[in-house]
Amino acid sequence: MGMQSDIKLIDENGLRIDGRKPDELRPIKIEVGVLNRADGSAYIEWGGNKILAAVYGPREAFPKHTQNPSRAIVNARYNMAAFSVDERKRPGPDRRAIEISKVISEALEASIFVEQFPRTSIDVYIEVLQADAGTRIAGLTAASVALADAGIPMKDLVVGCAAGKIDGKIVLDLNKEEDNYGEADLPLAIIPRTQEIVLMQMDGNMTREEVRQAIEMAKKAALFISNLQKEALRAKYEKGEIQKAEENLNAEVNKGE
Ligand code: ADP
Repeated sequence: MGMQSDIKLIDENGLRIDGRKPDELRPIKIEVGVLNRADGSAYIEWGGNKILAAVYGPREAFPKHTQNPSRAIVNARYNMAAFSVDERKRPGPDRRAIEISKVISEALEASIFVEQFPRTSIDVYIEVLQADAGTRIAGLTAASVALADAGIPMKDLVVGCAAGKIDGKIVLDLNKEEDNYGEADLPLAIIPRTQEIVLMQMDGNMTREEVRQAIEMAKKAALFISNLQKEALRAKYEKGEIQKAEENLNAEVNKGE
């Protein structure tokens, strides 16, 4: 953010370096139930980001002193793989990962009916395999789908998107170059059903009016992404139903032989 450069991020036709319009998202693909050992899982590709999310729980919180007698605790752990960025990233949690884990935990917790699971923990692992800016939002969006896949009751799927400012213009969903050389980035996450904002951060500088515009733009895109989350969940369960029907059919055929 804010690196000095002569790079033009928006061309004379108003298009960005990857050819997108100011309010255009990068392509997003979500897959549900990609891991067998986890209670719930999801994989997201969002532009150049590739991220896995796995959920365990609710399970008895351990060590015991961490237990809350009136509700579940939500522990999200965001981790970037050493090979996820251009230069090898030093493994292990740094200050950034600790901060992102905290804001993601709080955003997910706002939607989960935590009172239904006293003394338990819900553990959410977010592994960034390839990073291209916007990973906290993409990771959070995948994590929420993984929670639904684990059958954890929620007000709604938490969903996010970022908007920011490049070459003096408000744009949606910054990529890596835009994040590096742009003026501001504002990641945002909401619970669509209640319209609550459950995560909002900002890096760089914008005027009050620009912030308002960025929030509106990110919110609108989040509602669109919310549909992709639901479609991905539906696709898994439809696939499951078809598989079950085929297995039943095969069983009948084998019986008949
Ligand atoms: P987000 O990924 O949520 O946008 P940041 O704004 O902190 O979070 O990071 C923007 C991008 O910068 C990341 O998606 C990643 O591509 C890159 N990045 C972050 N940390 C590192 C690091 N330690 N080494 C190299 N690149 C990094």
